[in-house]
Amino acid sequence: MLRSLEIRATLSELENAHRDHVFWEPTIELSLDCFICERVGRTTGMELGDERAVCVSGRDYKHFTAARISAFDVTSQDTLLTVRTVVDFWWAPFQDAKRGGEARPLSRWVRLHYGWRCPHQETSGKGSIQTNMRRPRSARCGACDTEIAVDAEVPSIRLLV
Ligand SMILES: [Zn+2]
Ligand SMILES: [Zn+2]
Repeated sequence: MLRSLEIRATLSELENAHRDHVFWEPTIELSLDCFICERVGRTTGMELGDERAVCVSGRDYKHFTAARISAFDVTSQDTLLTVRTVVDFWWAPFQDAKRGGEARPLSRWVRLHYGWRCPHQETSGKGSIQTNMRRPRSARCGACDTEIAVDAEVPSIRLLV
């Protein structure tokens, strides 16, 4: 059946000069239980605008799967930059082919990407935030050696349907 997950992530304490130059990249890696290869917790990569995602099932085996980003909304408020995204995907029950666990529609891990352009130097940088990270963690612009944002919050993942 068609399921939807809502993912929210926030960068906080955006530094004044870089604030308007920090952006969320429209790509996500999400852990999903994949009914095609019948494995739980597969890293599934997707990009806004694509009608399918890629399940990275093993070191050298990848396949397309039925998942897409259906919403990607960025809001900024004071020193916060938040992204709310919705991922629609096809979910069907199965047992993990190797370990036997039950498939679930709720994901436990996500990675989101952000980038910035340095207002002082002609350079750019990028970073990512993911579920299992030590926090708080700061992002530093290498060009001007400034702390530009803080990753203080675990991204939230919630099943909508
Ligand atoms: Zn798969
Ligand atoms: Zn900079």
